[in-house]
Amino acid sequence: MQQTTLENLKQSQNLKLLSQLSKTTQKKLKEPLNSQNYYDNTADWRYMSPTLFKRFMTCEFSALHALENPTENNAEALVVGNYVHSYFESVKAHATFVKDHEQIINGRGGKPKAAFVKAQKMIDRLDNWHAFKAAYKGKKEAIVTGNIFGVDWKGKIDCLNVEAGIFFDIKTTRSIHDHIWNEETRTKENFVVRYNYTLQMAAYKTMLEQMYGQEFTPVIVAVSKEDHPDIQMISFDGYDFEQDLQLIKDNQEHIMNVIYGKAEPFKCGHCDYCKDTKQPTDVISVLDL
Ligand SMILES: [Zn+2]
Repeated sequence: MQQTTLENLKQSQNLKLLSQLSKTTQKKLKEPLNSQNYYDNTADWRYMSPTLFKRFMTCEFSALHALENPTENNAEALVVGNYVHSYFESVKAHATFVKDHEQIINGRGGKPKAAFVKAQKMIDRLDNWHAFKAAYKGKKEAIVTGNIFGVDWKGKIDCLNVEAGIFFDIKTTRSIHDHIWNEETRTKENFVVRYNYTLQMAAYKTMLEQMYGQEFTPVIVAVSKEDHPDIQMISFDGYDFEQDLQLIKDNQEHIMNVIYGKAEPFKCGHCDYCKDTKQPTDVISVLDL
C-alpha cells in the first residue's frame, strides 16, 4: 500500500516537473547551434555556458531575470571587447560589426569615441606582435558543445587549432599585471583568476576533449586597455583545472533547479537588479554600516 502511495507521489512530482519544464520548452532552439543563433536567448535555455554559469554564480536572482527577460547588452566595455575580437576574426566580420554598432562607436561629430580610439590602439598593437600573428592560426569563432556533469554546455572559441591541440582566447583587460581585490577570497588575484577565466578555459578544454578525443592546451592572448597597450600570451602550465570543474560540479545542480523553477534564486543583495528590486524592512545601526 505504502508502495503505491510513494509511486503516486513520484508520479505527481514528475507531472509537476513536466509542467515546469514545459514553460521552458516553448523557448526551444529551432536549429542546431550555429553562429547565427549562438547568442540567442533560446540557446541559453538549451545550453549552459561559461558566461551564464558565472552570471549565476554572481547572483542567481539577477541571472534568472536576465534569462527570462533578455535585452541586448550594449554596455560600452562589451562592445569594445567585441570590436577588438571581430578584427581578428576576419575583415568582413569587423566591417559588419562596425556597421552594426556605428551609433555606439561614433560620437556626435561622427568620430570614434575615446574608448574606440583606445580599442583601435589595442588592435594595432596586437597586429604588430609577430609571435601572436604567427601563433594565432586556426578556425575563428569555433562553436563547441559538450556535456559537463550531465548538463549540455556550449562555447565559442576565438581561435581553434585542432591539429596542434591548442586554442586561443583574446582577453582585453585594464592591466595584465595588476592584481585585483576579491572580497570573497580576501586576497588580490590576477585578472585571469579574478574574472574566472580559468573556469571558461576548463569548460572549453573539457568540451574539446570530448569532441576530438585528444588533449587541448588553452592560451589567453591578453591586451591591456592602457594608453600604451601591454600584450602577453598566458598559458596554464602548472595550473590545475580540477578546482574549476569541482566548482561546476558543486553548484550546477542547484543552478539548474533555479532555472527550472524548482529552487528559489539566491539574491546577492548588491548588484543592479538586487538594488532596483529590494524592499528593505529592517533598520541597521550606524555602527554596523
Ligand atoms: Zn544581485
